[in-house]
Amino acid sequence: MKKFSLRTRLVIWFSSLLLVIMVVTLSIMLAVSNSVLNTDVKESLVQTVTANIEEVEYLDDLNASEHEPGDHFVKFNDGFLEIDDDFLDDINGICCALYDSQANMLYGENIIHAPITTDGKIHMVKYGGERYYTYCHSFEQSELNGLVLQGIVDENAKKTVLSQILNISLLLLPILSAIAIAGGYISAGRSLRPVEQINAAASSITDGNDLSKRIDVEERNDELHQLADTINKMLERLENSFEDEKQFTADISHELRTPVSAILAQTELILEKDRSGEEYKKALSLIERQSRRMKNIIEDMLRFSRLERLETLDLTEEVDLSCLTDAVCEEQAARKEKGITLTYDIEPNIITFADTDMMIRLMNNLISNAYRYGRDNGLINVSLKKSGKTILLEVSDNGIGIAQKDIDKIFERFYQSDRSRTVSKDGCNIGLGLSTVRKIAQLHHGEITVKSAENEGSIFTLNLPMTNNTKEILNNEK
Ligand code: ADP
Repeated sequence: MKKFSLRTRLVIWFSSLLLVIMVVTLSIMLAVSNSVLNTDVKESLVQTVTANIEEVEYLDDLNASEHEPGDHFVKFNDGFLEIDDDFLDDINGICCALYDSQANMLYGENIIHAPITTDGKIHMVKYGGERYYTYCHSFEQSELNGLVLQGIVDENAKKTVLSQILNISLLLLPILSAIAIAGGYISAGRSLRPVEQINAAASSITDGNDLSKRIDVEERNDELHQLADTINKMLERLENSFEDEKQFTADISHELRTPVSAILAQTELILEKDRSGEEYKKALSLIERQSRRMKNIIEDMLRFSRLERLETLDLTEEVDLSCLTDAVCEEQAARKEKGITLTYDIEPNIITFADTDMMIRLMNNLISNAYRYGRDNGLINVSLKKSGKTILLEVSDNGIGIAQKDIDKIFERFYQSDRSRTVSKDGCNIGLGLSTVRKIAQLHHGEITVKSAENEGSIFTLNLPMTNNTKEILNNEK
């Protein structure tokens, strides 16, 4: 069995089962109908004989009563028997006949010459290879004494229908079975086609190392199509994460190339000839700066990739967001970079379920950007308030703003607008700040948006759902 294909195995199983069901059903059907018909034949025999009893009357004198046309008269003892025309002498294969006490037939038919019995039971008689049932009734009235009414019926009288059913079944069942098996074979083939497609697609993906391929199946909702659909979704996720991985590696290489090139150029230059102590010191301090920058880049990237991998956060910690924002702003205000003034306007007692470290990271990123891209002696404002069932955290500045063409891209990782590259001189920003902010917002079931105008400034807004417990967050998610 193992050497057969799934399709053949299915058809073999299905056909064998069909055969067994057919044989069992047919046997049960025949056994039951046989016994039902046997009982039916015997009952009809007794009923016909009993019905005929009423149709026989004794007459002393033929002129003593009125006769109906069709009535028969037979001499019996000292008088006559009047046999009504309703007497059923041959009906539904049942023959009836009347006999006197010497077993002489007076009226009717006895095709098989069955003996007369007087015990009031049904008897079985064999004649000419066939089986017959006989039933005799002895009249008890004094004037009909010795008169016997006998009924005879062929055991197979009613079995012709049964044999017809059997014949039709024997003819039809193999034809129907053949149709069912052929249908089963075709439909098994059709149902299993997605398996072949899955197999072919999987092989071509493996052979060509091409994750962009998909299993091409028609729209249907059976299990195999659902499986194909799931595999397609899995391939899409695999492809995306593979592409992400490739992009991430390319971005890392790109970010690290600048400091590495600077270090190499500096070392090559300094090693060209003997230098003074001052020159070595200058070169080493540049190398140190670039190495420090590399260290920061690597740390940022590690932190970011750890964050990216998180699917959910365990938001069970109740955080006083008002206090937290106040503390972050106080610390950030102390930077006093570029003569920028940071003001903050915080509604008290805003408490929600959040991750403290993540929220600090989010605020620091937004405020650091506002400093970095803020104008000299500019302004930064941080505000925190409730609005309906939402908490709104806003960080605004009157800095360089963001060009419309960049606005949709700034949340992508490693994205930096050309202007920001020129503006930022510390070299530590690598375009991961806003991706981090967006990821943290998502992990808190919130959303980050931006409004900005070039040379006027930017407003970053974080919307967080106001929740009393984590269950509420999960319910809102649904
Ligand atoms: P970066 O490390 O370059 O700051 P971010 O992801 O934090 O990376 O920001 C991405 C880009 O968004 C920045 O390069 C800059 O062009 C723009 N940006 C972010 N914040 C501001 C802001 N407050 N004002 C103007 N531009 C901003």
